Amino acid sequence: MTDNPFFTPSELPYGLPPFAQVREEHYLPALERGMADQLREVREITENPEPPTFANTIEALERSGRILHRTVTVFFSVSASDATDGIREIETQVSPRLSRHADSIRLNHSLYARIKQVTTDDAEEAWLLEKYRVDFVRAGADLSEADQERLRELNEELTRLSTTFSQNLLTASTDSSLVVEDAGLLDGLSESTIKAIEKDGSYVLALLNHTNQPALAELTNRETRRRLYELSTGRAPENFEPAARMATLRAERAALLGYPSHAAYSVADQTAKTTEAVEEMLGKLVGPAMANARREAEALSEQAGFPIEPWDWSFYAERVRKARYDFDGADLRPYFELDRVLRDGVFHAAGELYGITFSERDDLTGYHPDVRVFEVFDADGSPLGLFLFDPYARPTKRGGAWMNNLVDQSHLFDERPVVMNNLNITKPAEGPTLLTFDEVNTAFHEFGHALHGLFSDVRFPRVSGTAVPRDFVEYPSQVNEMWATWPSILANFARHHETGEPVPAELLEKMKAAEKFNQGFATVEYLAAALLDWSWHKLARGETVEDAEAFENAALERAGIAFDLVRPRYRTNYFAHIFFSGVGGYSAGYYSYIWSEVLDAESVDWFEENGGLGRGNGDHFRSTLLSVGGSRDVMDAFRDFRGRDPRIEPLLKRRGLQT
Ligand SMILES: [Zn+2]
Repeated sequence: MTDNPFFTPSELPYGLPPFAQVREEHYLPALERGMADQLREVREITENPEPPTFANTIEALERSGRILHRTVTVFFSVSASDATDGIREIETQVSPRLSRHADSIRLNHSLYARIKQVTTDDAEEAWLLEKYRVDFVRAGADLSEADQERLRELNEELTRLSTTFSQNLLTASTDSSLVVEDAGLLDGLSESTIKAIEKDGSYVLALLNHTNQPALAELTNRETRRRLYELSTGRAPENFEPAARMATLRAERAALLGYPSHAAYSVADQTAKTTEAVEEMLGKLVGPAMANARREAEALSEQAGFPIEPWDWSFYAERVRKARYDFDGADLRPYFELDRVLRDGVFHAAGELYGITFSERDDLTGYHPDVRVFEVFDADGSPLGLFLFDPYARPTKRGGAWMNNLVDQSHLFDERPVVMNNLNITKPAEGPTLLTFDEVNTAFHEFGHALHGLFSDVRFPRVSGTAVPRDFVEYPSQVNEMWATWPSILANFARHHETGEPVPAELLEKMKAAEKFNQGFATVEYLAAALLDWSWHKLARGETVEDAEAFENAALERAGIAFDLVRPRYRTNYFAHIFFSGVGGYSAGYYSYIWSEVLDAESVDWFEENGGLGRGNGDHFRSTLLSVGGSRDVMDAFRDFRGRDPRIEPLLKRRGLQT
């Protein structure tokens, strides 16, 4: 196995993983050797006869496990984006072993004892040292031998359940597809969509990962809508059991670590810090959001001429948009061609703000032919990093959209960042890929994460780029969404794919006006999911849940967010954010999106107050916030950017929630 590509550093530009050479049989041996190497490296640290110093302990830890890190990074990137049967089998095998491996380092007594003796005068080192100390304490380093043993068992079982949950979901996204024989039942969908989903004489509409399927806005047949909606909310019912079990195990783990609930444990090292802070924030939003949604529901029933059901909401929301604002989202699609959105929109905005430029590298490849690789250059022409783009949905890809790092920027290893964006856009059978406005917005959002990774300018990989608290990480990406509708940016990318004509100004005006409608729905859908997550993770040790569906209903009722017509964006059975911990889990953390939106709304205001799009503003955001990653207190970084503490008012105003 000397030809295992993970055993030596990549020789490709920027250390891009050599995807073309990676085969499934490379993963296991590389993971095994990677774990063994790291354990040996840790032993060398603990057996070092010299007194503990930052260099021989913390920095040595940062340097350890290189093969493992390389392999894990590639493996989980591929398992998220192209999980073939072989990859899924390896995932089931290795996930518990990786969890055991992590525990064997964080629960290593001599290592922890050494860390506690390290001192340093350097601010960046002191910040990292404290991070390590907290990581160890939170992993159970202070517990008794017996409690640590139990903790290891819990972690292993949780990892296994999380893999089961995610694999059930992947299977369900195809198995629960809506299948119809008669194309007439799909009336309302565009011809190209119908063509793209035809399979051997029937039509197969696969589920996206959230409750409300986009086709619900277009399907004119009410019965088809009902079927699609029920398939969506009822998918993977076998996931109720592992989800409930995970919540119980997490409560037990939190108790071992000295917290009353997993939620309390989870927010302790976030910017929110306490459960009360989160509850106060969510509590402020529930009442106004529900009132908004009820008002919208009335308008929809009036439009429909009968009391609507949940599967009617999107359909009649579109009708109201048409009637009230004379706006139809489908009219915009021809102006949003994928490549143009990327180059003349997303990249162009980054160029205007930060001076960076992009050049496609056809000589470099990803794990799938659809993956595109771009080299990114700084304003002065110096190389910045690589950006990989994987836009299309495929049956082996997890739902949603996300950014991940393939190489973390760090001065320690003298490495520049390699970052990646995944979207889930349906690939057309032929012709150009035309996006919805939502998809355009998502492309800008994910690229905001990519910029956070690309601009990282820190010494240590542990705090590189997006390695910030989870309730902060969505903030820079949300800010980047503002450029999707910025007039000069929009004018640059929104051009008709056939005629090159710019999108008519009046259509945009209508879109903006129409956007304000349905905010109640969007907020309630989101808050219901956030509060559902919260309820699962407020369980105390020993509390078990027999009937997860009943628990879900009661939780929403209790939180004042139960509304038949607007179900949570994710129900328990497909709430991968909180029950799949493989890549950055959001358990007791789904509140983060609106928590970060407070900072986002403040920052959008700042940009607008200061003249909007431009190099000066971009550079200020980059230097105070994006480039520091997690190398200092992120709220201090925010205050440096904004000049003061955040206030909630801009968010309330944006969402139409002022009371
Ligand atoms: Zn995001």
